Amino acid sequence: MTETNTATVSTFPAGCRSVLCLTFDLDAETMWTSKDPDNATRPAVLSSGRYDVGPGLDLVLQTLASRGLRTTFFVPTLVAATHQDAVRRIVDAGHEIAMHGDDHTPLRDRARSAEATHIRGIKDKLEDLAQTKVDGYRAPLYDVTEHTRTILAELDCTYSSNYMDSVHPYLVHTCGGVLAEIPVHWILDDGPHMLFSSSPPNHRQFITNSQVTEMWTAELHAIHELRGVATFTLHPQLVGRPSRRQLIDRILDEAETLGEVWYPTMAELAQHALRQVQEAG
Ligand SMILES: [Zn+2]
Repeated sequence: MTETNTATVSTFPAGCRSVLCLTFDLDAETMWTSKDPDNATRPAVLSSGRYDVGPGLDLVLQTLASRGLRTTFFVPTLVAATHQDAVRRIVDAGHEIAMHGDDHTPLRDRARSAEATHIRGIKDKLEDLAQTKVDGYRAPLYDVTEHTRTILAELDCTYSSNYMDSVHPYLVHTCGGVLAEIPVHWILDDGPHMLFSSSPPNHRQFITNSQVTEMWTAELHAIHELRGVATFTLHPQLVGRPSRRQLIDRILDEAETLGEVWYPTMAELAQHALRQVQEAG
């Protein structure tokens, strides 16, 4: 492994103190088939995935439009190919499309060359389906390998959003080039709080909106204090439930109250981070 992490980014445009990235993973049916291939023969289980690209996506896009917010959607290529209309609606609304695997299965156990072929393939396919350039990658379940960021840099990607080792964007120098890491954490992912299935591995109790609001608001405030990035990982089939989507408004209301918060797409944030390398060099 030949990575060096450098240059934590803690200054942002227009004097903003922190960054809020409300990102979405559009897993659709692959959320379920990647957990258990037998789910492909369970229509009711798969229907949760169809809510993702139907009513869930509609409600999320309406909420984002009402706030004038453009953001980033990570889409598995299988979902993009199966639900091309959903991708079109996202792109037409001005949002960014980024990589989220093929059928939502993790990368582990692949040799480096096989992983490089895999990521090149999904990048080409997603760019073809979305008719837009793809700059970044979030692995299913954030499950990258030690080679992933080098491969992304070799493919001229500008960012990865998978690691949990910082609250600031930072630059990663690899033997394939430089890219930005835009860190995540499970606490700002709606999955642990809202994902339920009738069988393992997601046989959990739901967390109420009040509890989620309390957690997310506290995290947002603390990250703002540290001049970091609050990267939310949301799913239209979870946070797009009728009673859940108010959480998006609550977070945005809270950020407005804080003030001095920047709301870039992931690609815009990565460009900002990479410009710091150019200015330093
Ligand atoms: Zn996912």
